[in-house]
Amino acid sequence: MKLILLGAPGAGKGTVAKLLTAIDGSVQISTGDILRGAVKAGTELGKQAETAMNSGALVSDDLIMGIMGERLKEDDCKSGFLLDGFPRTIPQADALKVLLTDMGISLDMVVNLNVPRDVVMDRLTTRRTCNNSSCQEIYNVKSNPPKQEGICDKCGSPVIQRDDETEEAIAKRLETFTEQTAPLVDYYGKEGSLVDIQATSSDVVVQTIQSNLS
Ligand code: ADP
Ligand code: ZN
Repeated sequence: MKLILLGAPGAGKGTVAKLLTAIDGSVQISTGDILRGAVKAGTELGKQAETAMNSGALVSDDLIMGIMGERLKEDDCKSGFLLDGFPRTIPQADALKVLLTDMGISLDMVVNLNVPRDVVMDRLTTRRTCNNSSCQEIYNVKSNPPKQEGICDKCGSPVIQRDDETEEAIAKRLETFTEQTAPLVDYYGKEGSLVDIQATSSDVVVQTIQSNLS
C-alpha cells in the first residue's frame, strides 16, 4: 500500500505505520526518524535540522524535499510505503505531488488520525523512545513500559525522553501542527483521497485502513 499518515504529534502515526508494515511489507518512512538519526550521527543534515527540532519548529521544506526525493527512489519503496510525518506543509504536499507524478506513482489514500488534544498531550508527556537510531522503538511509561525500566526490549539500548518532549517543546509542536500541518486535511479532502479516522486504538485504525483499501 502507498499511504500518507496525517495526524498531530502523538496521534499514533508511527505505531500505526509499524503495524501496517507487518501486513504487506510496505516500508515506513518517518522523516522524524531520519532526522533524529542524522542528528545522532552528527552529519551536516543533522546539524542543520537540530535547532528547529529541539524547539518544536519544522525544518525547512527544501531540506525535507531533498531527503524525500532520494528516499522514495530507493528500491524498498517498490513494495509500498507509509509516509509518517511527511508532508507537513502545503509546499511539501505540492512538491510531493510533482515528485510522485514524475515517478508514475499514485497514492492509495491519505489517512487522517483524528485524536483530541488532551489525549495527544497526555501521550506525548508519557512517551519514551529507544535511543538507538536504527531502532527508535516507542514506549509509554503508563501504558507500555519496557520490561526492564529504561532499557529497550528490542535492542537493549537506553530508553529516553526525547529532547523535543519537554512540556514547552510539546506545546510548540502542537502549535506548529495546528498552523502548518492541519491545513493538509482540507487540501487532501478537496482531492477526495482523504479517510478521516477517529483514532482511538491503533488496531481499529489498522482495520479501518484495510477495509478502505479492499
Ligand atoms: P512528531 O512526534 O511530532 O510527529 P516526528 O518524529 O515526526 O515528530 O518529527 C520530529 C521533528 O522533526 C519535528 O518536530 C520537526 O522538527 C522535524 N520534522 C519531521 N518531519 C518533518 C517534515 N516533514 N517537515 C519539517 N520538519 C519535520
Ligand atoms: Zn531499541
